[in-house]
Amino acid sequence: MVKLNSRIQQVVGSTTLAITARAKELKEQGKDVVNFAAGEPDFDTPDHIKEAAVKAINSGFTKYTPTSGAEDLRVAICAKFKRDNGLDYKPGQIVVGCGAKHSIFNAVMVLADAGEEVIIPAPYWVSYPEMVKVAGAVPVILPTKRANGFKMTAADLTGAITPRTKILILNSPSNPTGMVYSRKELQQIADICVNHGIYVISDEIYEKLLYSDEPFVSIASLGKDIFDRTITINGVSKAYSMTGWRIGYAAGPMDIMTPMKNLQDHSTSNPCSISQKAALAALSAPEDTIIAMRNEFKARRDLMMSLVDGIGNISYIKPDGAFYLFCDFSRFGSCAETAKRILNDVNVALIPGDGFGAEGYIRLTFSTSQERIKEGISRIKSWIGTQA
Ligand code: PMP
Ligand code: GLU
Repeated sequence: MVKLNSRIQQVVGSTTLAITARAKELKEQGKDVVNFAAGEPDFDTPDHIKEAAVKAINSGFTKYTPTSGAEDLRVAICAKFKRDNGLDYKPGQIVVGCGAKHSIFNAVMVLADAGEEVIIPAPYWVSYPEMVKVAGAVPVILPTKRANGFKMTAADLTGAITPRTKILILNSPSNPTGMVYSRKELQQIADICVNHGIYVISDEIYEKLLYSDEPFVSIASLGKDIFDRTITINGVSKAYSMTGWRIGYAAGPMDIMTPMKNLQDHSTSNPCSISQKAALAALSAPEDTIIAMRNEFKARRDLMMSLVDGIGNISYIKPDGAFYLFCDFSRFGSCAETAKRILNDVNVALIPGDGFGAEGYIRLTFSTSQERIKEGISRIKSWIGTQA
């Protein structure tokens, strides 16, 4: 057996990516798979964004850019932060990466040292604990209560802090639960982090997919002290249906962003120049396409909730954001086994909750047409009917 790097040896592959790939494979084999697994919008990238990319190619914008991203894109990102989040970042404080995943990865690598603890509220997005393991730091999984809407309370957070705590990874709106923290809840979390000298990596990738009337709040906007301790992460994948273009970005204090740029200098260098021009077009245009997409997601969410209610005995927390319904399937036993059986028996692809630190749950993505949602839930209902 080849001797591998001991940190990488502990890393497990992504459940979300594995099942999404399996669903695509079955589809290619001619199976009529309903895809409730994919964690990406099903809409096409809007035309004005594609056109900007074509223009970039034709005008020869096909060379290296600065590692942190082209100046015009970083200026547009600063304008976005100011406009949408009330955050004052300078272009030098922005590092554009190859997707928000890459930006979070780099932030964890730069901040988390061996043996330091990183608090990850569960249910969590699959990649956070693995990133912490790569850094040689310790993921501290903080379970949240279903009764609290899967939100970490101030008491939960305080109880998880030790002298070794370095970072809190925050994700609102959440993948996989769709919960969204209110301003008041974020203020409490911010106060605790400031008082204990904890850094926050705030993953705001689902910012634009919100279904309640509450405005989105970036934790870094809640005062200078928390601003100075936060790395704000966002990107174009979810808001503009640009998952394949691989553009995300991080913003934070210079003494963190400079080493993040240095790390990226020696790994990927700049993200794809053509995608940068596409992202610039996305961030610079009016939000019409986002609004249309959000309205459709909201209609799909409402449809999926009412159909799941019709099955009976499958409960969930109403998602206020993102595009996931996180359902309790615990009465069927192991969620990984249940998801596998539903895929094999009735060809509906789902993501089991164990990868999100929530055994017994299954994530259903409502990023497919209303017709397919009806079809998929009807198949799940009939599958459940066969389980005595
Ligand atoms: N954070 C969360 C919570 C996500 O669900 C995703 C989607 N994969 C990402 C970050 C990364 O998005 P991307 O790398 O496509 O920008
Ligand atoms: N974020 C998506 C998901 O959770 C995409 C897959 C991934 O990168 O994990 O399914």
